[in-house]
Amino acid sequence: MIVSVTMNPSVDISYPLSTLILDDVNRCDKVRKTAGGKGLNVTRVIHQMEEEVISTGLLGGVLGEFIRENLSSEGIKHDFSNIQGDTRNCIAILHDNHKQTEILEAGPTISIEELSSFEETFLTLAASSDVATLSGSLPKGVSKDYYSRLLSLLSTTDIKVILDTSGESLKLALESSVKPYAIKPNSDELQTLLGEEVSADYTNFSDILSHSLFDGVPLIMVSLGKDGAFVKFDESFYRVEIPSIPVKNPVGSGDSTVAGLAIGLSKRKSIEEVLKYAMTLGMLNAMEDTTGCVDKTKFDDLFNQVSVYKL
Ligand code: ADP
Repeated sequence: MIVSVTMNPSVDISYPLSTLILDDVNRCDKVRKTAGGKGLNVTRVIHQMEEEVISTGLLGGVLGEFIRENLSSEGIKHDFSNIQGDTRNCIAILHDNHKQTEILEAGPTISIEELSSFEETFLTLAASSDVATLSGSLPKGVSKDYYSRLLSLLSTTDIKVILDTSGESLKLALESSVKPYAIKPNSDELQTLLGEEVSADYTNFSDILSHSLFDGVPLIMVSLGKDGAFVKFDESFYRVEIPSIPVKNPVGSGDSTVAGLAIGLSKRKSIEEVLKYAMTLGMLNAMEDTTGCVDKTKFDDLFNQVSVYKL
């Protein structure tokens, strides 16, 4: 089983408007509300691929209940810890020909007691899982090195942890003594992490991924949007090439890529196949309108068009 963690989930609201008028009333009749947050996208994609997954993290208030009901109605297993505060809303206003204005609530503040109760749940779920995904930002009240804490809680187990976060929480987890099994930064996140220029023609990737910050992390996949990915696995480097596809909405493709890594690792596939799973699911998400959604029937065809080259 795969356990997918979302520490700061949200109910994502999208308001499509032909034009956004500032300082006036905007009326909208096509509101969409979905269970959001990077980890929930990962969960949904794994579930759509008919692999076993359970979603956990922190939920509170009526929006927390909305997310639980939403997951249950899709037949997705979940076991979130309750918090006193209210799970947040994140609003995306889609306007003026593909422009997107976002309003992201910071979300609730988490207490130490709430965190320890979550950790109990997490450890129980992890005991029957072979892969864990830790995705997204951390809520208020949770220190930036919290992912290192979760990694250390799993240090005596064989579970493979895929960490998909950015900035300080990623850096602190990479600096900690217990390392994640895999990370999946995109090139912007990689650049921010290292404070180094990543050349647009990707010639300096092998040097960059040999940085001491990545020591002890077996699998580093740098996703490159339509250009596929560059990967370091153990001491080898790989270039992953993908076909050109009809893109509808690439938001959430990174999360879908993480879902692919998790499935491939959980099925104990070869590294080439793990990378192909990841890229295929990234592409399948980009081909749908809905974020964190894939069409399983197109999987085999796309999978066979992904090429992995060992450098
Ligand atoms: P993130 O969402 O984290 O920024 P990427 O944009 O790199 O991640 O997307 C992850 C993966 O999804 C890519 O490596 C690729 O497989 C697929 N993907 C994303 N955007 C496109 C695109 N425009 N065309 C084809 N594949 C894409």
